[in-house]
Amino acid sequence: MESLLVITHSDETGAALSKASLEAVTAGQQLAAGLDASLTIGIVARDMASASNAPAIEGARFIAVCGEAFAQCRYATDAAACEALCRAAKATIVLAPHSSRLARVMAGVAHRVNGVIDTHIAAVSLSSGGTASVEATRWFYRQRIEAEITREKRPWFLLLDAGTHAPFAAAVMGGAKIETIDADLPALRTLVTGLRTPQQDAETIRPDAKLLFVAGAGWTKKQPDGQIHAAEASELILRFLDASGASLGSSKSLVDQGGEGGSVLPFLTHLNQVGQTGSTPRHAKGLATCCHGEEPHVVGWRFIAERRAISLDPNCGWTRGKADVVYIADAFRVMERVNALLESKK
Ligand SMILES: Cc1cc2nc3c(=O)[nH]c(=O)nc-3n(C[C@H](O)[C@H](O)[C@H](O)COP(=O)(O)OP(=O)(O)OC[C@H]3O[C@@H](n4cnc5c(N)ncnc54)[C@H](O)[C@@H]3O)c2cc1C
Repeated sequence: MESLLVITHSDETGAALSKASLEAVTAGQQLAAGLDASLTIGIVARDMASASNAPAIEGARFIAVCGEAFAQCRYATDAAACEALCRAAKATIVLAPHSSRLARVMAGVAHRVNGVIDTHIAAVSLSSGGTASVEATRWFYRQRIEAEITREKRPWFLLLDAGTHAPFAAAVMGGAKIETIDADLPALRTLVTGLRTPQQDAETIRPDAKLLFVAGAGWTKKQPDGQIHAAEASELILRFLDASGASLGSSKSLVDQGGEGGSVLPFLTHLNQVGQTGSTPRHAKGLATCCHGEEPHVVGWRFIAERRAISLDPNCGWTRGKADVVYIADAFRVMERVNALLESKK
């Protein structure tokens, strides 16, 4: 019989489990129910008070590795904590969020307990055959090939991509029993002295935003008056991001322009690039502006549920079935109007 462990960790506040951890709890609970397997929720947290903010799940065992050393991410302490949780749970299947914190330690943890690992898992289910065996699904080749993976070897670690499951929503544990587990810490060579992060409004990539706003190369091309309006484009885009909280994506042509000495939007980097050689974000809605909607770009929109585009070109890729709604209009004028409406509501 399988024994499932979901490894979770707290968010930046330290007071609650991260959203990606709660998504892994959803996947774990569904899989445990389907397999009729035991479910353990493992928590890495600063103290028991933050661990007890885990959601209540009937029948699940809760174990936690707590201490000041686990308040911040650091390979040695995180790997030791996860290893201790795996050993305590005698896990045969380990689910964990593919967060930057756990992604960098989990392959090492799998090795320590003689297990195997698969990453970027989008779904976990039971095979439809006679015996209930676990199948994990992931994408290869920039989301073009979907693979279903089964493995005999245990323990099997599965890192779940964020946004693939609904976050587990339930009352928090409150007084429920959480067992504390000791982790064997090696001599620590890394001292975390603090975090330096950009201002919230300077960070344009916001994976949790409902809307993805994509800027295309048209923003820095000559407009009908024969001039380039890059400064105005910057101002319009930043105002929209500020007013809407949207995440900023870009086409490859636009982010490549800096290297070619063309006009650039200073807040864009290759990290914003969406598409075949960029990212494949998962937002509920997307709005493409001044972008032609070519296939190598649109393949990055695979998981965007509702798509809209603003383009001057009535024959662009978006109008050929790649968007739900296309506004054939000047994005400068449309976004000016949209910003005014948003700002008037503030
Ligand atoms: C191997 C390979 C991998 C690639 N990977 C990627 C990738 O990961 N991501 C990616 O994005 N691309 C990728 N590309 C490039 C891709 O094929 C396109 O060249 C690119 O997406 C075009 O960017 P764009 O639509 O912003 O620019 P353009 O094709 O230059 O389109 C600009 C659009 O803006 C419109 N426009 C101009 N002014 C306005 C205005 N005022 N209002 C409204 N619309 C306006 C124009 O009508 C035009 O349609 C790849 C290509 C290859 C060969």
